[in-house]
Amino acid sequence: MPEKYHIHAEPAEPRYQPVFKLSSTERDQCLGCNDCAKRNCIYDVYKKREFLSSELVDSSGSFCKSCMRCVQECKNNILSKLLNPEYTQIGNSYWTPAILTSLWQQAHAGKIPVSGAGYDGPFSGTGFDDMWTDMSEIVRPTRDGIHGREYISTSIDIGTKLDRLHFNGQELADDLPPMFSLPLPIIFDVPRQAGTWRGVKQAVQQAARKLQTLAFCDDRESTGSHIIPRYSINEKIEPDNSSKMIEIFLESCEGQLIDKAEKLAGEISKSKPGLVICIGLPISKNTAQTVVKLAKNKIGTFHLYANHSGRGTGSDSDYFIKEIVRETHRGLLAESIRDCVTILAGGGIAMAEHVAKLIACGADGVVVDNALLVALECRMCLECLEEEPCHVHIDAIDPQWGTKRIVNLLASWHSQLIEVMGAMGLREVRRLRGETGRVMFFRDLEEECYAPIFGKRVW
Ligand code: SF4
Ligand code: SF4
Repeated sequence: MPEKYHIHAEPAEPRYQPVFKLSSTERDQCLGCNDCAKRNCIYDVYKKREFLSSELVDSSGSFCKSCMRCVQECKNNILSKLLNPEYTQIGNSYWTPAILTSLWQQAHAGKIPVSGAGYDGPFSGTGFDDMWTDMSEIVRPTRDGIHGREYISTSIDIGTKLDRLHFNGQELADDLPPMFSLPLPIIFDVPRQAGTWRGVKQAVQQAARKLQTLAFCDDRESTGSHIIPRYSINEKIEPDNSSKMIEIFLESCEGQLIDKAEKLAGEISKSKPGLVICIGLPISKNTAQTVVKLAKNKIGTFHLYANHSGRGTGSDSDYFIKEIVRETHRGLLAESIRDCVTILAGGGIAMAEHVAKLIACGADGVVVDNALLVALECRMCLECLEEEPCHVHIDAIDPQWGTKRIVNLLASWHSQLIEVMGAMGLREVRRLRGETGRVMFFRDLEEECYAPIFGKRVW
């Protein structure tokens, strides 16, 4: 049995009181019951609560799991919970308050988040929310997620693969292209706005090293086998000898740029045969066909980019990352070259389930960026994109603290990924790639069930 990959989490306290969903209120008519509803809170919220004079808040909201037991059990109905107005103000329609507060909790404790409030819908939406994972194997005890007896592997391979091997007698006749494995299907990227924040960069890179994964990097100061130097197409490319992989980033899928990148990749491969060369492409209507064209010409690793909401930019903002990954995967399958190519994709990865969903759409690995900032207490106000100062001073964090928070977030995501795969009956993440038989798409189901009766919906 392979050695079990495990991420060790240690609590990393928040620097600021996290914004919480519900605040507690209490009318002054306590009956003094012996069996007080407050004492029955299994999370000991009423024991742990304190008034934080520095921030003028009652800390109970940070521990409360919104199960409403105390509200329901109070004999005189004097306890109630109110929606915290500050909670409704954080984030945006994609990085919702629920996502942000859950990520903070995961970065703090490194555990799978618990919510006692149930889920009252909606059960479908846009982006990743119109996709459901099939958890029908959840009852099989041997594959039972993190506590199961069978090892569930989260390793992936990165690089070009040959479609077949050729032999001269007993001798292998092919030159094997460069390839390496990572124990986690996740690579890090530093969001553009944080590119000059030294503490953030160090935290991301140290966490990548600790987790045995990789981090994309635009500067030339950072070196090491855990760094993927990223070059623009017009830059002089001189990779450090320690790099396993480099990326050539293109602003668009325009024909001349693609030809130039292909030529450049061919030249670098000749001078550095052990280096994996990845071509970075923004998502657009041409991405899938560009990947197929390059893959047919022996380029084997791609990184598909979306913005912080998982969408293309400018006139390509209607495209969402999961659809483009799906289209790319199908295009490569149609040419019978899917197994020769590695697809990495990122942008808008805000939850552990997004990792599983994007892989099920056809990505080999997922690139995580803004979620790492959220682990460092980002509120996704996006004011830093306008070069405004950060309210929570992420630019001034201690890199050691930041490393712990990112490792904790990944510990939680790793456990959740294993849980999802266990429930799907899959023992390795490589098998999840493109496994759309284990997921359902709302649009497909709706069309199948209702289009014959009501006609096709115009989206
Ligand atoms: S709502 Fe639930 S978790 Fe929150 S304080 Fe009441 S009993 Fe505890
Ligand atoms: S300004 Fe700070 S809190 Fe707002 S998005 Fe930027 S890093 Fe996050």
